Formats: sequence, structure tokens, C-alpha cells
Amino acid sequence: MTKAALSIGSNLGNRFDYLQAAVTALAEHPSIFGLVSSSIYETKPIGGPEQDDFFNAVLVLETNLTALELLDLVQNIELAAQRKREIKWGPRTLDIDILTFGTDQISTEKLNVPHPQLSSRAFVLVPWFEIDPTAEVSGLGKLVGLVDAVSKTDVRLNSQMKLVVY
Ligand code: ADP
Ligand code: MG
Repeated sequence: MTKAALSIGSNLGNRFDYLQAAVTALAEHPSIFGLVSSSIYETKPIGGPEQDDFFNAVLVLETNLTALELLDLVQNIELAAQRKREIKWGPRTLDIDILTFGTDQISTEKLNVPHPQLSSRAFVLVPWFEIDPTAEVSGLGKLVGLVDAVSKTDVRLNSQMKLVVY
């Protein structure tokens, strides 16, 4: 069994419903166990065209899938959310990224783990720290050190909406 962390984000359409759909699909999957979700955070998009703010959250789970099988699963969940991929860095209904997969370090065309951008992304580090403050990232060290190093001013807690793990 491997512990994994995922980042989920949406900034198009019903942002809450897309994140909840991702949580539900993962929690219901027979190879995913003990899923925990962070609060939702609202963040400004980085780069790309003018677009709505993101809803972001981080999920921590255990799985008996391989890293590539987990990637395949999250990409199928993205497809089910009718994610459109035309515009690079453009708005998206649902983006699911694998942040860490146990202590694995993977550099292939299909999969890079730990996620190459995670240390610069407050919208990943802040929700992750909320649910797993003692987490460690292969090659980068303790999550607490990473979260301390980034500006958190653009990451706002949404205290109205809660993702539910059924
Ligand atoms: P991005 O998340 O960079 O905005 P996409 O979600 O469209 O863009 O992902 C593009 C490709 O990134 C995917 O087809 C996938 O194969 C690859 N990829 C590499 N590493 C990861 C990872 N850690 N998590 C998710 N996708 C990844
Ligand atoms: Mg992605």
C-alpha cells in the first residue's frame, strides 16, 4: 500500500461540484483507501488568459495501485468532468495532479513525481499542510519547510463549502 497526495483544482463551471465529483469518484474506488480532503482554498490563476479564480484542495490517500495506474485513474476522472484541454494554462473544469507517490521519484514523459511545480505553489502547499503537517517530500524535505518558504497571501480559505468523503 502506498500513501499518495493529489492536488485537485477547478476554475470553470460549478467549481465545487467538480471537486466533489473527484473526491467521490476516488473515495468510491475499490483501490483507494482512507481518503482525507483538505478545505477548499480560492486562488488566483497563474499565467494564461483572463479567467475565474480556482477552487483548490489537496487529498491524501492510500492505494494499492501503481503510480501509472493512479495517473490513469485521475485522468479518467478528469475526462468524466469533460475537461477541455485546448488552451494551454487556460480555464479547466477539473485538474488532478499527483504530488507524491510514497517516496518514489519518477521522471518520465507521462509522469513526474514529486510534482515538479509543487514547491512553488502555495495553493498546493497550504491545503496539503492543513491535512498532513508532518508530510515529507522525496528530494525536497519536510512539507513544513516548503510551506514556510512561500507567500500565502493569494490563497484564501473558503470556510463556507466543505468537500464530503462519503
Ligand atoms: P497541467 O496539470 O500541467 O496544467 P495537464 O493536467 O494537462 O497539465 O497534464 C499534462 C500531462 O502531465 C498529463 O498528460 C500527464 O501525463 C503529465 N504529468 C506528468 N506528471 C504528472 C503528475 N505528477 N500528475 C499529473 N499529471 C502529470
Ligand atoms: Mg494536471
